[in-house]
Formats: sequence, C-alpha cells, structure tokens
Amino acid sequence: MDNKFPGKDISLEDLKSKFPLSAKKNKNHKSKFKIAGVEFGGSKIPIFAGPNMVESKSLILDVAKNVKKIGADFLRGGAFKPLTFPYRSKKYNETREEGIEWLGIAKKKYNIPVITEVMEEKFLPMICEVADILQIGSRNMQNYPLITACAKTQKPLMIKRHYGSSLRDWLGSAEYALVEGNKKVILCERGVSVPHTHRSTSRFLIDLQVVPAAQEVTHLPIVVDPSHATFWRQWVNSMSLASVASGADGIMLEVHPDPENSAVDPLQPIDYNEFKYLMKKMHSVAKASHNRKIL
Ligand code: PEP
Ligand code: MN
Repeated sequence: MDNKFPGKDISLEDLKSKFPLSAKKNKNHKSKFKIAGVEFGGSKIPIFAGPNMVESKSLILDVAKNVKKIGADFLRGGAFKPLTFPYRSKKYNETREEGIEWLGIAKKKYNIPVITEVMEEKFLPMICEVADILQIGSRNMQNYPLITACAKTQKPLMIKRHYGSSLRDWLGSAEYALVEGNKKVILCERGVSVPHTHRSTSRFLIDLQVVPAAQEVTHLPIVVDPSHATFWRQWVNSMSLASVASGADGIMLEVHPDPENSAVDPLQPIDYNEFKYLMKKMHSVAKASHNRKIL
C-alpha cells in the first residue's frame, strides 16, 4: 500500500496521528516541569555542564564543585560512552559502574543534580540510583526498546537528536517515551551531518533553526549542546550565545579543568574561566532576546 504521508518533514496529519503526545495542543502550549527543583520551560534557562567522560573520581569532584559555584544547574558526564570506533586507548576507557558511583558522590557532596547516558537497559537500576535525568545519546535516538525501558522508570529523559535525523524522526523518538506516561521528556540538538563543516576537524553543523522549528510543533523543552555540535572550543562561546538567542530552553556544555587533556574529544571542552565568562554573556543574551535569565 502507498504511504499517504511519506514526508521527511512534518505534515499537519503527523501532528494528529504520528506524535499526538509530543505535539502542541494550541499555540501557547509549552511544557513546564521541575527536575530536582530546577524548572524547565520557565523564565530561567537551565545549564548542564561537565566533562565529556567521568574520567576519575578526582576529576568529577573538581568539576562538580566548580561548575556548581559558577551557576550550573546540572552536572553532566558519561560513565558509559558510545565511541564511534571500538578501539580505546587506556585513557579512553569507560569508567562504567565506578564512574556512576563517583557521579553519586559528587552529586551529594556539592548538591548538584546529575545527567548521564544510558547505553544498555541492564544498567538502568544502578544508573537510576544516581541520575536525575537519563540521557539517550544521539547514536541511540532510534533504539526504541532502550527509550521505552528508560521511559518506564519514570525518570526524566533527555533525547539527543541523531545527526542524521529529521525533526520528524526526533519527535517520533520522544513519542516513544511519552506513550509510557513519562511526561518529563527533553530534546537536545547536538549538530547534524552536512556536506561541509568549515574545518577538517569538525564533523557536525549546529542546527539552530531546529529550535524555533521544534517550538512551532512541540511543547517539549529544547536544549542545545554547542560543544558536540561544533567540536571546536573556539566556536563554543559564540554558538552558545546564538543558541540562547534562538530560543533554546537549556544549554549543555562540556567543561573540563584541563581541556587539552580531556580523555575524550579534547578539542571541544572549555575551562572554568571560559565557562564563568560565558554564563554571564548567555545571561545578557537571554535577557535581551527572550526576557529570560541564566544566573
Ligand atoms: C555526550 O553528550 O556525552 C554524547 C556522547 O553526546 P552525543 O550522543 O550527542 O554524541
Ligand atoms: Mn561525545
């Protein structure tokens, strides 16, 4: 049978039949909810900061202390890491169960909620003891059994957009979470694959147009991750400000005390000083562009 609506982009019919739960019910419909006391969809824009990987206990404690002091709302960091290639140097080794335990220690000690990635359902019970938000990585955006299992725990979820996926596909993934009765679903743009990225080191291009585009059709909060999107710390500052101006409901940033020696993706993290400076700048842009705040 012919597919009546084969679109790669969103039709009016999709809003009714493909993702009725993700779709806005009216023009002003916008989800507002709290996670660990932090409001999403409100006037203050939540900030997620931390290293790419939970490399060691001392690293994650140091980052938690510093990003909290500077004003981050959530500590980020992966203990389970989806790396594009299977060969890992010793430095690249995932810290797995230990890393989750260290995140738990940092969270308690510095009173900062945690977001971390889930790669396999079997680790969910252990991760749920520590995580305030479960991160579905871009590479798992269409791993529907994983999304369903995570959603069933009723923990808040952040679904990163796969770099080859349309907004339509992304909302399909969100619908898999919402259909389980989980209402705390956040979307995160992290760069898409395109023919040109302007530098041989960059693999992705930040798609800021997707922020207003998504906000036209969905009530879910849209976070932007300029670190993964640019893969180049020199561009993180301006692209973070542009993300805030685009109307993002949250910003995720890679922050590391010694960016050049980050175990994973050393070209993209910013250091504490840069983060502090950027927080102030983002606050000004949030105020000027949307009468929202960051600090
Ligand atoms: C991450 O945020 O740590 C990560 C692996 O991101 P992505 O899934 O977007 O590549
Ligand atoms: Mn990464």
